[in-house]
Amino acid sequence: MKSYRKELWFQTKNRRELINITGEVKNCLKESGINEGLALCNAMHITASVFINDDESGLHQDFEKWLEKIAPEKPYNQYMHNGFEDNADAHLKRTIMGREAVIAVTEGRLDLGPWEQIFYGEFDGKRKKRVLIKIIGE
Ligand code: ZN
Repeated sequence: MKSYRKELWFQTKNRRELINITGEVKNCLKESGINEGLALCNAMHITASVFINDDESGLHQDFEKWLEKIAPEKPYNQYMHNGFEDNADAHLKRTIMGREAVIAVTEGRLDLGPWEQIFYGEFDGKRKKRVLIKIIGE
C-alpha cells in the first residue's frame, strides 16, 4: 500500500471565505501516483471546515446567511467562549459544516459526483491555516 501526505496552506483576506480546493486535491492525487484508494481532506483547525458541495455563488451566499442565522458572529458577548477570544461563532460554524471529506480514488481520479466540488470553509481567517491531504491505496 502506498501512502501520501501533504498540507495545503491558506491565508484568507476575509474572516469568512469558501475556497474551491478540488484542483489542488487533484494535483495531490497525481503527485501520489495512487490509482485505487481513498483521499482524506481535513481542516487542521477547529474554526475551519472541509466539505463537498456545488460551486455556485448563490448557494455560497445562502451558506453565509444560513450560518449567520444559526451562529451569528456578533454580538461577541453572546458566547461563553468569547471571554478571551471572539471566534465562538467560527467554532460552531465549523461543527455544522464538518471537519473533513473522504473521496474515493478510482482509476487514478477523484471519484466525485457530477456537481461535487471540494471546499475549504474558513470561518476565522486572516491568518495562516492548513488542510491535511492524506491519500492511501495502490
Ligand atoms: Zn476559540
